[in-house]
Amino acid sequence: MSANAKNQAMEYRKLGKTELLVSLIGYGASPLGDVYGAIDSREAEMAAHLAIDRGVNFFDVSPYYGLNLAEERLGQYLLGRREKVILATKCGRYGLSDFDFSAKRVVTSLEESLRRLKTDYLDLFQAHDVEFGDVSQVIHETIPAMRKLQEQGKVRYIGITGYPPKLLARIAGQAPVDTILSYCHYNLLVTDMDEVLTPFAESQEIGLINASALHMGVLTERGGPDWHPAPPVVHEASRNAVEFCRKRGLNLSKIALRFCLDHPYVSSTLIGMPTRANVQANLALLREKTDPELIREILAVMAPGLNCVWPSGRTAE
Ligand code: NAD
Repeated sequence: MSANAKNQAMEYRKLGKTELLVSLIGYGASPLGDVYGAIDSREAEMAAHLAIDRGVNFFDVSPYYGLNLAEERLGQYLLGRREKVILATKCGRYGLSDFDFSAKRVVTSLEESLRRLKTDYLDLFQAHDVEFGDVSQVIHETIPAMRKLQEQGKVRYIGITGYPPKLLARIAGQAPVDTILSYCHYNLLVTDMDEVLTPFAESQEIGLINASALHMGVLTERGGPDWHPAPPVVHEASRNAVEFCRKRGLNLSKIALRFCLDHPYVSSTLIGMPTRANVQANLALLREKTDPELIREILAVMAPGLNCVWPSGRTAE
């Protein structure tokens, strides 16, 4: 099969008003920081290369993932392939409770990330988990500092990421950004991203990126990691859905990702894919269709765990 034929199934969408055409499935690099358990780095490198060969062109990472480890690994994996990808990383978050959204740190953070990623520019630079910052500082200091880096040509576009959808919309309403990355608010377990954030992003033509299609590992046979913030009822609901699917010869993770890919406005759904098996399974979904009746049945099984959200950051939004 030619490379073109292999790529045929991939769809690309414009990321808001930017000139970036991102793949519908994006490569989430947080597992490269061993955040879901230690990975086999050689396997992950082959997985990243396979993803690129199959048309995945959007890679998202952060200094926070594995405390620089994910960026270091990704920089290594992308040697000789940098120009094939749209590369996004972040600033502002450096540990579980280590945040610095100052203009000074924005600048040094970019320099450090560029070194680890072995490149001299970023396609997208995002303020990471803005709900943990002082909102006024994010609006009046962080985002303007990022815009300055954009004017200097060091980053092509800027964005924000975080958990509370309303707060993301509020910040972007006061300090315009090119993209917003929302996570765990649009998947089989929770869909409230569409209440405020999606209509806002669409009205402003801001690129919308959806992350954690598997709810940070919950919607999998293995289940979520120990540090997962969702209450037990969510994990139990997912275990029941896994069992429901297994009895029918189906895989909940695949159904969950396919569901996210159907979103009409999201340009790219990020998913962690540290193995070639993950890449193959997920890209095969591009040729499949969601069965609405099956989704209704799965949602009924998961009913007690649906739409559970948790507090994150400094605000109650
Ligand atoms: P996820 O929900 O995508 O889960 C990742 C886990 O699922 C990994 O362990 C992976 O091996 C596994 N997996 C992938 N495909 C699978 C399949 N078909 N079957 C079974 N398991 C499968 O969670 P995530 O990694 O947190 O989210 C994706 C990406 O989104 C991150 O890597 C990151 O780039 C981004 N993200 C950003 C933020 C933020 O900026 N605040 C927050 C969350 C996620």
